Amino acid sequence: MSLIEQIKKKSNLSEDEINSKIKEKISKYPGLFTEESAAYVLAKELGIVLEDKDVKLTPLNIIDNTIKTANVNTVVEYIFPPKEYVQGSKKSKYVRLIVREDDTTVNLTLWDKFVPLVETKKIKKGSILACKNLSVNKYKNKISLGTTSFSDIQVTGEKKIEPEQKRINDLSESDFFVKVEAKLVSKRELRNINSSKVINFRLYDGFYINASAWDDAAEEVNKIDIGKTIVIEGAYVRRRQKLELNVPSDAKISTSSKAFEVVADADLPLKNISELAYGERVRLKGTIKGLDRLVSYNWCDKCNKKAEDVCACGNKDLVKNYIVGFIFGDESATTKAILFRNQISALLGLQQDITGMTEDEVSSKLSTVLDKDKEFLGYLKKNTFSGEDEFIVMRVVS
Ligand SMILES: [Zn+2]
Repeated sequence: MSLIEQIKKKSNLSEDEINSKIKEKISKYPGLFTEESAAYVLAKELGIVLEDKDVKLTPLNIIDNTIKTANVNTVVEYIFPPKEYVQGSKKSKYVRLIVREDDTTVNLTLWDKFVPLVETKKIKKGSILACKNLSVNKYKNKISLGTTSFSDIQVTGEKKIEPEQKRINDLSESDFFVKVEAKLVSKRELRNINSSKVINFRLYDGFYINASAWDDAAEEVNKIDIGKTIVIEGAYVRRRQKLELNVPSDAKISTSSKAFEVVADADLPLKNISELAYGERVRLKGTIKGLDRLVSYNWCDKCNKKAEDVCACGNKDLVKNYIVGFIFGDESATTKAILFRNQISALLGLQQDITGMTEDEVSSKLSTVLDKDKEFLGYLKKNTFSGEDEFIVMRVVS
């Protein structure tokens, strides 16, 4: 039975009256309602109990900003601290959640009347939420969901969620709940920021990452000696200048006996291409056999990330950044060698930053290194789009 049929059956309104009330809502709040969502809100206003099977759910992975409202079933994967938002004399409160359905995660922002659900711990990590009438927005080029005063959120269950174990080199900005096992190579003093405790430290598991732990987690990290192997469960990744690991207060901190030998660049093993293993840092000697690709794109130096015409941060002063791929070979095999910004400059022996050059200038410079013997330091990685193996150059040795 459609929503309108249910309203007709369970209220005293005629179908014409129902339709005109729905139209009234749609025109009163432009952009907020579809016919379906307006009917849903009308039913709630009339005190009609709807059968849940009549609510159409949208899977998270097909939501795009051509739809205005969505009903979703999701699991809460991460909860950011509640914040206040002041616009003129109006003060709002909101809390941002990361919610997941299968392999898709999106932001869900709960506004005002829904914030107490988090504050009273009715909604927590692992809560299964049945959400109706969420608004669909685009934020920083990604789809995000939000509540309006017409939304409805019910906690329908709980799912035990386990952090996914990842190596430092495999971490990405979309990781909100990970487990990392690595050597604690250095740490700063525990300090106070506002009313929170924080400790900054550095981890190594063959690759390095900077990390910050907060409150209870900071106290735990502070107790661990430098050189020990630390296991962090429930951290998330964010991008400052580089990727960083952020360890919230409720993350689980322990130690393990697994040993990570820190190897200096000069002591890395020299390998043949045929001997390369994913994620292992090595030195590689060979010949640049040809250009595979030269890719240019706009780059925001403030956020340190790729951007369209204007960065999400508002910066219009974007620079041209480049990726260069070579066919690189030794006597054992050939592979693709990928170089980014500073390594391209180093390879070409440039005094200036590559971002000051046009694509034509870069292209003609690149022709001067073809057939040259080179030694690179880096690691093998599978390109997630093409599925091809690529050797990522972290340093041009000679
Ligand atoms: Zn930016």
